[in-house]
Amino acid sequence: MLTLDGATVRYGARAVLDGVDLVVAEHEIVCVLGPSGSGKSTLLRAVAGLRDLDAGRVLLGGADQAGVPTHRRGVGLMFQDHQLFPQRDVAGNVEFGLRMRGVDRAEREGRAAELLDLVGLPGAQRRAVASLSGGEQQRVALARALAPRPRLLMLDEPLGQLDRGLRERLVVELRHLFGRLGTTVLAVTHDQGEAFALADRVVVMREGRIAQSGTPVEVWQRPASAFVARFLGFDN
Ligand code: ATP
Ligand code: MG
Repeated sequence: MLTLDGATVRYGARAVLDGVDLVVAEHEIVCVLGPSGSGKSTLLRAVAGLRDLDAGRVLLGGADQAGVPTHRRGVGLMFQDHQLFPQRDVAGNVEFGLRMRGVDRAEREGRAAELLDLVGLPGAQRRAVASLSGGEQQRVALARALAPRPRLLMLDEPLGQLDRGLRERLVVELRHLFGRLGTTVLAVTHDQGEAFALADRVVVMREGRIAQSGTPVEVWQRPASAFVARFLGFDN
């Protein structure tokens, strides 16, 4: 579904993505972990086409995405700062991508209701975005990213502002939802528990490179380096 082949992004002399090779299979859920500044968000931005590569390639469904604009890549995105449209109400935000795609009203309303239930905001369709708490806004942003059922969904710290109980419930429900819809997911998180509960595979980044990639159990039981072990919180 997604292939990165030597993907490189530079700012000045520094490669913040440094020759990354990564294959994400159809229906796979991959979680990206790594310290702040290791290039996780840059990786998502490069796949989405929000940042051009300085070297290497991004392929989606086997097709090289060089020069393909974001809206033609068939990817869904939810960012760390989850900018909602402040002038639209909750439904207007969740249904935005569906409207753009010409999905009819009944279908839009049905999906919005289902997703708002999922994220724990049932009946919030007519709420003004400004009246929502930060965590509630984050949940609306998640529903908005899910609504168009993209072939590849990329989430950057999607649950970062939520309390632990809600996060744990949402992770389980999201896994079911992704399975049901057959969504391929590339998600950044700093929460290891979340990554290990959600992911088929975890990728640990360090300074723009992949330090380890494997199933949660593999990475947890056999960290590939002292760096990974330390990052996971093992003492040595
Ligand atoms: P965090 O966990 O803090 O979100 P991250 O792994 O997502 O970190 P990135 O946002 O991908 O990190 O950034 C990787 C590095 O690239 C950082 O050191 C950042 O300062 C740098 N960087 C990102 N965007 C730019 C830019 N526009 N100009 C210069 N440097 C940038
Ligand atoms: Mg980031």
